[in-house]
Order: sequence, then C-alpha cells, then structure tokens
Amino acid sequence: MRAMTQPFIEFKNVYKRFGNLEVLKGVNLSIDKGTVTVVIGKSGSGKSVLLKHIVGLVKEDEGDVLIQGKSLNRLSSKQARQFKKNMSYMFQDNALFDFLTAFENIALPLTETTRMTVEQIRKKVHDRMARLSIEGIDHKYPSELSGGMRKRVALARALVTDPELILFDEPTTGLDPIRKNDVHHLIREFQKQFGFTAVIVSHDIPDIFDLAQQIALLDEGKIVFKGTRQEIMACEHETACAFIRGRE
Ligand code: ADP
Ligand code: MG
Repeated sequence: MRAMTQPFIEFKNVYKRFGNLEVLKGVNLSIDKGTVTVVIGKSGSGKSVLLKHIVGLVKEDEGDVLIQGKSLNRLSSKQARQFKKNMSYMFQDNALFDFLTAFENIALPLTETTRMTVEQIRKKVHDRMARLSIEGIDHKYPSELSGGMRKRVALARALVTDPELILFDEPTTGLDPIRKNDVHHLIREFQKQFGFTAVIVSHDIPDIFDLAQQIALLDEGKIVFKGTRQEIMACEHETACAFIRGRE
C-alpha cells in the first residue's frame, strides 16, 4: 500500500467566531508543499482571518489547523519557533516600519531570528534587493518610496529568510494594473526559483490565477469551491462563477 502524502497545511472543519459574528463555519482546505494556493472571497468573508490561523495569530474555536499533520497549538515552543522561522507573512498593508529605512526593514527578520554577522546580513539583503531591482534605496524611508517600491521592499523582506512558506495577504491592493501584474510576475518568478509554498489571499482575479495550482473560494464561512484555473473559469460552479463574473 502506498503511503498517503501528508498535506503541508490542513484546515479541518475550522470554526471561528468573534462574539456573535461567525466568520469561519467549517473550513476544509489542504495545501501541498511547494504549491501555490489562491484564496478568493468577498471583502469581509474571512480571508485574512483564515491566513492568521496558519501563523497562530488567530486560534480556531473548533476543528484543527494542522501543519505537517500537527496542530500549531500542540507544537512545543521550540517547534513553533522553528515553524515561524521558516515562514513569512506579507501583510495586507505591507506593514513596513516607517521609522526604519528600506534596508533595515528588509534586514529585520534576519536580525531577529538568525545569528548572521552584519556582513552576511548586508550581503543577503543586497542580493534580495538586486533580484527585485530596488538597489540603491538602502537609506530611504517608506514614506519616500512609491507604492510599487514599498511592495517590493515588503516582498524582499518576505524572501530574505529563505522561508518554506509565504503567506500573502492581498499583495497587490492599492496598485494600478501594471504594477499589479508586476507583483504577480515577481511572486511567480520567485516561487519557481525558491520553491516555497505560497498561500495568496486576493480579490484581484482572474490574472492571479495563473500562479495557482489551487483556487479556493471562501463564501459564507466555508470553502465552497476548490479547483484549478481551468475549472473555475469553466464556470460550472454557480457561486464561483457569479463571484468571477462580478469582478470582471
Ligand atoms: P477579509 O480579509 O476577507 O476582507 P477578514 O478576515 O479581515 O475579512 O474579516 C472577516 C470578518 O471578521 C470581518 O467582519 C471582520 O470585521 C471580523 N474580524 C476580523 N478580525 C477580528 C477581530 N480580531 N475581532 C473581531 N472581529 C474581527
Ligand atoms: Mg483581508
């Protein structure tokens, strides 16, 4: 008998409420290692809440969020630290620190979680900046950069630790269509190069679908559709179809 491959991340019947507001009502979702999953859904449908479960920023009321078969809540503090070290979270609003320069923002995860020397850190940060074509902005503060540049800084910061997993919360909000494409292209290139697992939450569809092995639609607290780009575009699922039509 062949052993079943274990998903990298698995939501098993996950419920989450805030007071009377039921946000997740039985979410089931499996994410395989090295793949790209895009989660779409209306604003307020719980996409960010779903992502936050993976990092432990939000804890499920019922059900399980499993990381390589283990509940995040049941990891030892050492295992939890290890897992967090291997992942990056690109927040919805970039979450750059205004009082830190571009260089310092990108270097931050390295100074926090590794014992690299100043010189090693400098090299790593400059390598990521070069790959993202943002050389020469070391001393600039976020307020001095354009929206597109700030996204690149946030992306460089997400990539600087060579994570196994990157969570992208609306990575293209606030950008014009050309810059959106740009960010999608960068994510795709880096995912191919580095092979990390990506979970991307977005309402920018359908251009981002090209990136994904799996597209999941969150609606009324549940994943109501899971499939490939071709499957969702075939428009055979009523809710998924209506969602996409509404966005075109
Ligand atoms: P989305 O990312 O899909 O736009 P969110 O996941 O941010 O939606 O939020 C889903 C719902 O949960 C919203 O109604 C939001 O107000 C609510 N919510 C999210 N986080 C909290 C929180 N910490 N406390 C109370 N309500 C919250
Ligand atoms: Mg959100």
